[in-house]
Amino acid sequence: MPELERHSFDVLVIGAGGAGLRAAIEAREHGMRTAVLCKSLFGKAHTVMAEGGVAAAMGNVNSNDNWQVHFRDTMRGGKFLNNWRMAELHAKEAPDRVWELETYGALFDRTEDGRISQRNFGGHEYPRLAHVGDRTGLELIRSLQQKVVSLQQDDLAETGDYESRLRVFQEFTVTDLVLDAGRVAGAFGYWRESGRFVLFEAPAVVLATGGIGKSFKVTSNSWEYTGDGHALALRAGASLINMEFVQFHPTGMVWPPSVKGILVTESVRGDGGVLRNSDGKRFMFDYVPEVFKDKYADNEAEADRWYTDPDTNRRPPELLPRDEVARAINSEVKAGRGSEHGGVFLDVSTRMPAEEIIRRLPSMHHQFKELADVDITAQPMEVGPTCHYVMGGVQVDPDTAASSVPGLFAAGEVSGGMHGSNRLGGNSLSDLLVFGRRAGAGAASYVAGLADRPVCSDEAVTGAERTAVAPFAGDGGENPYTLHMELQQAMNDLVGIIRRAEEMERAVERLDELKRRAASVVVEGHRQFNPGWHLALDLRNMLLVSECVARAALLRTESRGGHTRDDHPGMDAEWRRKLLVCRAPGGDVEVVEEPQAPIRPDLLALFERTELEKYLTAGELEA
Ligand code: FAD
Repeated sequence: MPELERHSFDVLVIGAGGAGLRAAIEAREHGMRTAVLCKSLFGKAHTVMAEGGVAAAMGNVNSNDNWQVHFRDTMRGGKFLNNWRMAELHAKEAPDRVWELETYGALFDRTEDGRISQRNFGGHEYPRLAHVGDRTGLELIRSLQQKVVSLQQDDLAETGDYESRLRVFQEFTVTDLVLDAGRVAGAFGYWRESGRFVLFEAPAVVLATGGIGKSFKVTSNSWEYTGDGHALALRAGASLINMEFVQFHPTGMVWPPSVKGILVTESVRGDGGVLRNSDGKRFMFDYVPEVFKDKYADNEAEADRWYTDPDTNRRPPELLPRDEVARAINSEVKAGRGSEHGGVFLDVSTRMPAEEIIRRLPSMHHQFKELADVDITAQPMEVGPTCHYVMGGVQVDPDTAASSVPGLFAAGEVSGGMHGSNRLGGNSLSDLLVFGRRAGAGAASYVAGLADRPVCSDEAVTGAERTAVAPFAGDGGENPYTLHMELQQAMNDLVGIIRRAEEMERAVERLDELKRRAASVVVEGHRQFNPGWHLALDLRNMLLVSECVARAALLRTESRGGHTRDDHPGMDAEWRRKLLVCRAPGGDVEVVEEPQAPIRPDLLALFERTELEKYLTAGELEA
């Protein structure tokens, strides 16, 4: 074997989406020698695909908005299962993180008086999403990258080397974390192009690897979202929470088949788009759940008046949280009132002049024209649910983003708790900024406080290398592509939007079988750009994480947010007090119930008692 390439840093950030970049900027600003690693090209992350906007209670469009209202909306959206401290920090700090982006060079759309414009989104009481048309994620990534470059220029001026304190390694996949006596010591991985192995020695690692959507067949997620960070954390001994909660975005494209699952932004509904079934009925009025009845209109006239007079009218039910809308679409299709290709109709063409649609939703206009030959200024779109986001992730300390493994931090979609059982649109981009910054600071202060640096032993490195090359030595003849397709189908069919015990039991059996077969996956050729090998390594992560989803979903015998049980349709206040915590000692997933920390009284006091009665147990209300 050629000699192993080695690098040494203080803080290693795995992932160059919004969370990773914000963490890296913070760690570097705290004086840490920081590296950012990403599987794809620098700049190509989920974050860049974000369309609608970043939620922050700046009150620019409606001055009644403030952090308390944002906190309340987030807790309601997550059906009170959220980690309340994370929801509090998020609501309080999001505005500063958005304004800070302007100092990095971001240019948001403006109100007429020149402030950052904010748009409506599901579950947000006031217009709250700062945006750049429907390409907000692009601006976010662009400005974070610009900040990285400007820090590198400062470093050049001071040290003569651009990369002396902040260096990016792109098209690089991390396959294992390296530990020293239970503490993080570094990470091991390979260059995707050459297949050559690299060891990064670092006492602190921030996981910012995004989601898990590629375990499902129909998804808005792209190829990189194979749950790597979730699996790395589990294998290192950290725990995952809320894994049963997977968000199915209500509006993905359903036709043609080659684009099934691609996202249709919620901004279409935020800006006035309505959902109709094959009878032409605006059906969402039939699906407003009891807990939201006082906030959502029960007739079209009031819903339409809300766009111009939100203070005296209730919101249109198309703007209910995503879990509610996705279930409603699912029910309409099941009842035989769906569109030709198994979706429903999302219409903006009858709601706004064509020029306005093109101005506000340029990407959607382009996407439907190019991919489906549909002109959204004249025709409705056909849409249906698509796996979009995982609420579950690494259990972290809210203030520092530290996991239970010393030196391991997590931020963004890979972390869990912030969104409870269901994330509100726009709350991910703000989450990335708030907790990315906190993770960078947390990692920096951890490193600063270390008495000695952990060491990557030869034994640990050899073990990681052996695991990485195992697929070349497989003798069972299993093909990684076949296994991946079978996994996606099983997750879609058995642990999808509507769940039943028997199906999830079958899913657990299927996953066991796939895991056994994956042990004899074989890939051909050599390590130089070999997508089959890459997939074989990703598959290990997808299987582990899917097992967490299926096992936790089977245990939670209630319906809440992104977890809908046909056999347990109601929400159960006793379950709100419990977290399902996944660990994988020795590689086998264990799921145990742990109590959820009670909400701090001053935060609870932000809600009316009548609302709390819908979520809390009698005992909690009396306490
Ligand atoms: P990501 O941006 O997903 O980045 C993950 C990074 O980790 C990538 O750089 C990847 O290459 C890297 N990585 C992964 N595994 C490895 C590995 N093993 N080794 C090395 N690197 C690795 N949210 C909103 O709030 N508002 C919106 O309008 C919005 N619109 C969306 C539209 C679409 C189409 C999609 C798919 C999502 C949208 N979301 C939106 C959700 C939001 O974009 C994501 O949740 C968020 O961007 C995740 O950011 P992140 O920083 O956690 O991870």
